[in-house]
Order: sequence, then structure tokens, then C-alpha cells
Amino acid sequence: LKSSVIITGASSGLGLAAAKVLAQSGEWHVIMACRDFLKAEKAAMAVGMPRENYTVMHLDLASLESVRQFVENFRRSGRPLDVLVCNAAVYFPTAKEPTFSAEGFELSVATNHLGHFLLARLLLDDLKASDHSARRLIIVGSITGINTLAGNIPPKANLGDLRGLSAALNGVQSSPMIDGGQFDGAKAYKDSKVCNMLTMQEFHRRFHEKTGITFASLYPGCIATTGLFREHIPLFRTLFPPFQKYITKGFVSEDDAGKRLAQVVSDPYLSKSGVYWSWNKDLNSFENQLSEEASDPEKAKRVWELSEKLVGLA
Ligand code: NDP
Repeated sequence: LKSSVIITGASSGLGLAAAKVLAQSGEWHVIMACRDFLKAEKAAMAVGMPRENYTVMHLDLASLESVRQFVENFRRSGRPLDVLVCNAAVYFPTAKEPTFSAEGFELSVATNHLGHFLLARLLLDDLKASDHSARRLIIVGSITGINTLAGNIPPKANLGDLRGLSAALNGVQSSPMIDGGQFDGAKAYKDSKVCNMLTMQEFHRRFHEKTGITFASLYPGCIATTGLFREHIPLFRTLFPPFQKYITKGFVSEDDAGKRLAQVVSDPYLSKSGVYWSWNKDLNSFENQLSEEASDPEKAKRVWELSEKLVGLA
């Protein structure tokens, strides 16, 4: 029997590339959890995924109602859940004004963090129920969360004392930012990725020993060609791929990044929990360090508890 994996945002970029590798291996059935059904179907066909090895299911992470609906639909399909990959993300680096999710949260934090937080929490029961030998919950991270060149280009991620997130809980929309500051689209994205990495570690601390599930994150490399940069100014979109290729040498093709994510899904050697995987220049995987903020257990606990309340779990 094939193993089954849910990948959010599998309609393009990294998610699609990983879906392709797994579906073509013949060992996996991929549930592509996507907001645009038709786009996902077309993408799967265009990259040559065997029809019997994938299913597209609707999921809009910017609506908590849609997340709950997705979980119900998935359960009704009767498939087991062996691995969940939280991959989808949005990025609004040039936005002057914030946009908001169905529940009124700033859209990048809502999509990248809160939607995935609810999804992962609800599907934990399904992962527990699987009898697969390598059950995994993977949250795609980002270098912007750690101490590197890219991470240090302003604006830097900083969740501060979480006053913006707490205020949202009380229905006060004083600031769309987690730290309560002024709106900055690039920072909101980085903040959301720090939340992703804190969430992965908090899952590990709370559930790894009890359940045996592997919780992991990864930095797939800089995939300068994906849709993530679609909102950026045209000059940036032209210069960014060669910059990454020749100057920072961090460039990775969508296909190679997809293989890395597929490795974290299925490679028996990458089964350690609580790890943030990265790849060195010899293309070998290694356990990377997180920035101080992204590895702060106290902050992880607070983000977890606040997020629980914001998505209606507590
Ligand atoms: P893409 O923009 O190509 O892919 C993002 C995916 O997320 C798309 O499939 C998109 O759907 C989906 N998505 C966006 N909003 C929602 C939503 N509300 N509900 C459901 N799905 C949604 O970007 P990448 O492939 O580059 O990004 C994938 C992951 O990799 C992200 O987590 C990103 O942070 C991470 N990453 C990317 C890097 C890079 O250099 N590109 C570097 C480090 C990390 P649709 O097709 O409908 O737009």
C-alpha cells in the first residue's frame, strides 16, 4: 500500500516539485491541498504526475473555516495520514497597506502561520492513528529566520513581546504586526516564518516522546524562481536569480529543492525530530542552527498558547 502525504500549496514552486518527486516514486499518494483547484490539477498534469498517485483537495489557509472543512473532507476520503507538509506561503514585500484574512488577521501571518497551526493541530490525531513506520510533520522554514546574510537584511524578523498578536485576541486591531509595530510586508513574512520554526520545536517538545512522530523543518535553499517573489518589483525579479546564483551561491532550482523536501518526507536517514535541515555546498544535509529568537522555548510556548486561542482551540 502507498504511503500518503498531504502537501499544502502544492500547485507551484517547492510544493509542486516535491509532490512530483513523491508521486513519481510510485511509493506515495500525494494529497495536494490547494486554494485553486484547477491550477493544481493543471500543474500536476503539466509536470507528469501519474493520475493514480495524487488527489487535489481544496484548502484556503487564509480561512480557518476552510481549514476545518479540509480536515473533514480529508477524513471522509478514508485515507490514512502518514506525513503532513506545511509548505504554502504568501509574501508581500512591496505592499504599502496590509491585507487581511477571513478572520481579520494580517494575511501573511494568517496564511503562513495561523492556518498551518490549526491544520497541524487538527491533523495530529490523524498522524497518531497512522501505522506508518515514519510519521512526520514538516513545516517549511526559511533562512530569514536564522543568523545569516539574508536573515540580517532589514527589516529583520522580530516578534517582540507579541503585543500585536495578543491585542488581536482581544479584538483590538491596533497593529497588523505581531510585535505591535507599523505594517511592513517583508517583516510580516519573516515573522511568520519564525512562528513556523517555533511551532515545529514546540510540537517536538510536547509530542515527540509521547507519539514517536518526527517534527522537522527545513531550509530548502534560495529558490529564486518561484511564485513567492511574484509581488516583488520587476527589477528585483530579474536580478534576484542571477544574484543568488553567482554572488551568494545559495541558488537552488525548483527541481533540486523539491528533491530536498521529498528527502525530508521519506528518507529513513532524516528521521530525527526537532531538527532544522539545511544543505551544505557539497549538497549534503546537515542539522542547522536557528537564530536566538527562533529557538527561544519561552517564546515558542507563548506563540503556541496565543495561536491556540486565536484559531479557536482554547
Ligand atoms: P510559491 O509562491 O511558488 O508557492 C506557494 C504556494 O502556496 C502556492 O502553491 C500557493 O498557491 C500556496 N498558497 C498561498 N496562499 C495560500 C492559501 N491561502 N491557501 C492555500 N495555499 C496557498 O512559493 P515557494 O514554492 O517558493 O514557497 C514554498 C515554501 O518555501 C514557503 O513556505 C516559503 O516560505 C518557503 N521558502 C521559499 C524560498 C524561496 O527562495 N522561494 C526560500 C525559503 C523558504 P497558488 O498556486 O494558488 O498561488
